[in-house]
Amino acid sequence: MNADLVVVGSGLFGLTIAERCANELGLKVLMLDRRYHIGGNAYSEPDPDTGIEVHKYGAHLFHTSNKRVWEYVNRFTSFTSYQHRVFTIFKGRVFPMPVNLATICEYFGKAMSPDEARALVAEQAAEIDGATAESFEDKGISLVGRPLYEAFFRGYTLKQWQTDPKELPGATLTRLPVRYNFDNRYFNDTYEGLPSEGYTAWLTRMADHPNIEVKLDTDFFDLRSDIVGNVPVVYTGPVDQYFEYAAGDLSWRTIDFDYEVKPVGDFQGTPVMNYADEDVPYTRIIEPRHFHPERDYPKDKTVIMREFSRFAVKGDEPYYPINTAEDREKLLKYRELANAETQVLFGGRLGTYKYLDMHMAIGSALSMFDNLVRPYFAEGAT
Ligand code: UDP
Repeated sequence: MNADLVVVGSGLFGLTIAERCANELGLKVLMLDRRYHIGGNAYSEPDPDTGIEVHKYGAHLFHTSNKRVWEYVNRFTSFTSYQHRVFTIFKGRVFPMPVNLATICEYFGKAMSPDEARALVAEQAAEIDGATAESFEDKGISLVGRPLYEAFFRGYTLKQWQTDPKELPGATLTRLPVRYNFDNRYFNDTYEGLPSEGYTAWLTRMADHPNIEVKLDTDFFDLRSDIVGNVPVVYTGPVDQYFEYAAGDLSWRTIDFDYEVKPVGDFQGTPVMNYADEDVPYTRIIEPRHFHPERDYPKDKTVIMREFSRFAVKGDEPYYPINTAEDREKLLKYRELANAETQVLFGGRLGTYKYLDMHMAIGSALSMFDNLVRPYFAEGAT
């Protein structure tokens, strides 16, 4: 094999490792991906009918507070000034998400100051002690009170996880802030934007180096015996698959997208509309044209994607790690196996069974490069 390193999977984790190894260390990298394209789930392509950039694996919004990650990604693309905002429909009315002062005033039908809203929510949240709350439901109620919890979290979460929120961990909720002001931005991060020329231009540039060879439509498991043991590997595929499911399958949720081109210039007036009602079967509708208001898209057509969430079975795309108690036990066994594997490093969302936002995948790849990959090759050279 004519490569110093094999990277399995060309998502943001794999791309970052490959790019650093080629550019900084001058190594020859072979990158394999079983899909027909690079970029993992961040990949996007133009809708053939309208030219609208569609995030093939669901909406990807870039945001980070990590300066190093921001500077790193800006080497490959510029970013637009896009700021993510989300609305949610509950019983025929529209509210801003995450829960902020506008959501609270609108829901209770009166103007309130931040302190008045805080006092009202505190009174409603008092039934649960936030310090000891563990389940998603108890955490939710202790955070916003029962009425707001039942309107904005309960139905959405039931649909998203198909599990009673009483059985879900409270940690899932900590991804969402609650604000007692009118700031309705979705993310709190310092830096935010969308790649000006699209995700695929960005991701392609990361791999654009004479030392990086990308083989698409190539399953690592078909080549495994030629690779493992002969050349160091950074593996970003599913960790349970690597070990032939020896400790059992890790559980994931997947998303089905119902894709439609509508004969209107604007379907919903905003990129993401959540649907909080339990009896609406989808969790949200994405209208990708709104991610790029600066682009010249057709005025009489638009693309929408309804999202339906469900438990993944083998063959489905894994999206969200479910992380049950059994999953965590299995993961401990896989971590032991992974640590014992010489010359193979495991990274990325699938390789570590962790929900990673894009900036986290890049940040963790840069750390792996600093702490393990660069020292490994530096030692090897002496
Ligand atoms: N969530 C909710 N209502 C909403 C949006 C989110 O209850 O309108 C909950 C839901 O349980 C979800 C979690 O908050 O799994 C995290 O939401 P986030 O938007 O971060 O999920 P993602 O966009 O990554 O699917």
